[in-house]
Amino acid sequence: MQYENQKILEIGQGSPLNINWEMVSHCQYDCSYCYYRPFTSDTNYSTLSKIILKKLKNIEEDFIINLIGGEPTLHPDFTQVIDELISIENLKEIRIVTNFIKPESFWNKIQRSSKIKITASYHPEYKNKDFIKKSEILSDQFNIDIAFLFTNKIEEFIKYKEVFEDAYQLAKQKKLTLNCVRLHKEEYNNTTYEEYDPEIEDFIKESEHKVSSLDNKETTLIKTSDIQKNIAKSHFLANGYNKLKGWKCDIKAFIIHYDAQVSYACKNTKKHILTCDFKTEGIVCPFNLCECDDYWSFKKVAP
Ligand code: SF4
Ligand code: SF4
Repeated sequence: MQYENQKILEIGQGSPLNINWEMVSHCQYDCSYCYYRPFTSDTNYSTLSKIILKKLKNIEEDFIINLIGGEPTLHPDFTQVIDELISIENLKEIRIVTNFIKPESFWNKIQRSSKIKITASYHPEYKNKDFIKKSEILSDQFNIDIAFLFTNKIEEFIKYKEVFEDAYQLAKQKKLTLNCVRLHKEEYNNTTYEEYDPEIEDFIKESEHKVSSLDNKETTLIKTSDIQKNIAKSHFLANGYNKLKGWKCDIKAFIIHYDAQVSYACKNTKKHILTCDFKTEGIVCPFNLCECDDYWSFKKVAP
């Protein structure tokens, strides 16, 4: 069932504090659509991670962390950092957001913990021939979520539609979760989604429909005056429910950058890691689109 945006009064079931940690600024890939544009920096990542871990241990409320980059698995002390993160009691979930190019032997060195989730992004511009095989093998040991990026070149599409089908079969067997990711771009502070070749657009729509019919799909909670319902994230997006300018949003999220600066998500505030206390208040949303699906779980109330 579809709702008019005006009938929705509340979005999101509530979320613990959410921290993104850019573990390094570089990556093995240089995807044409990368919003980050990987680069090298002079940061001593080993020293900085010790400072960050100390700060994270002092957070008094429950939180979740997303390890991002660049490519986080390129951090020189990656496995040790994971061990330390697992031991933090208030840290409830550790999501490793990776291009998944590292071999199975690398992942086998990571401590097993129910706190860990690997978000493996499939980037069709690069060959990652063992992507599906690794996903299947490691799904016995870790929670795995595949973020499947749809690019807009027919020569890539011809190859990636088969990979998508393999990923879908694994999701159908409940070995992992699968998310369809459309390309979008930022232009003059305005976000627009890629306009796809019609053949690719049809395939994406069909894929979104298949994923949203799975039992283990990712969802977002919406409430109207008489109903509350978890809807597939792809439906949430397709219906434009993420146009939330003027809504009161309980966002509590931070981004720890590769250079020791900490941004307060959706707020025009930055502090150094040494002075940041990871405390913040909700705001009235100033943006046309709420782009990050991780943030959809923060409670939002209509104006
Ligand atoms: S894998 Fe991710 S971080 Fe690396 S270049 Fe591609 S989009 Fe950017
Ligand atoms: S863009 Fe930020 S402030 Fe706006 S609704 Fe999304 S999370 Fe909240």
